[in-house]
Amino acid sequence: MVQVKLSEKFCVPRYEGFEEILEPLVRRITGSQQGRVRTGCDFRNEVFIMKMHFYGKCPCSYGKKLHEFEKENEHDVECFHTQWFELDQAFRNHPKYSQALILKTERINAEMQLCRKYRIPYHGGSYIENICTCDFKKKWDMLNVEHDEDCPLIAPNFYHAPSGLKIWWNKKFFRDSYSNRRIEKKEFQKIIGECLRSI
Ligand SMILES: [Zn+2]
Ligand SMILES: [Zn+2]
Repeated sequence: MVQVKLSEKFCVPRYEGFEEILEPLVRRITGSQQGRVRTGCDFRNEVFIMKMHFYGKCPCSYGKKLHEFEKENEHDVECFHTQWFELDQAFRNHPKYSQALILKTERINAEMQLCRKYRIPYHGGSYIENICTCDFKKKWDMLNVEHDEDCPLIAPNFYHAPSGLKIWWNKKFFRDSYSNRRIEKKEFQKIIGECLRSI
């Protein structure tokens, strides 16, 4: 298994057996014998914590500071972010948006065109709405604001207290996943065994 070090983060590759190891733990907690369980569940005891993806807005001091910052600062009219937001609104507000497939195709074309104009690679996905080509993001980044340690937006999806192992994923097990240290499958199996016995 290859794990790449990204500052203090280590990639946990998907489809290498980690999912199969974690699934029985979720099934034990939720009592679900069949069906998909790969979004995880919310559970905590003294041995481990499991947490589903958090969909809300940041509820910690970071969110409050960002809100204050947004009151005083704006993206430029010419910033990619502003243009993207306008495009998004135009399509969303269209009365036939949800039914009309043709509008969706049109939207993709409009998105691609906008990206071409700004020379931004287009792969679809939500990363794009965070791209800023004005000073807004630079100014915000210079403030070095960090999330509180217990903010659900940055909390790991899996935490094993005895070993200190933390793993994050994106909505489903091991999608875009990383951990706070190198972890081999064998050790992970041992850790999950310990979690199973703790319930
Ligand atoms: Zn901007
Ligand atoms: Zn936060």
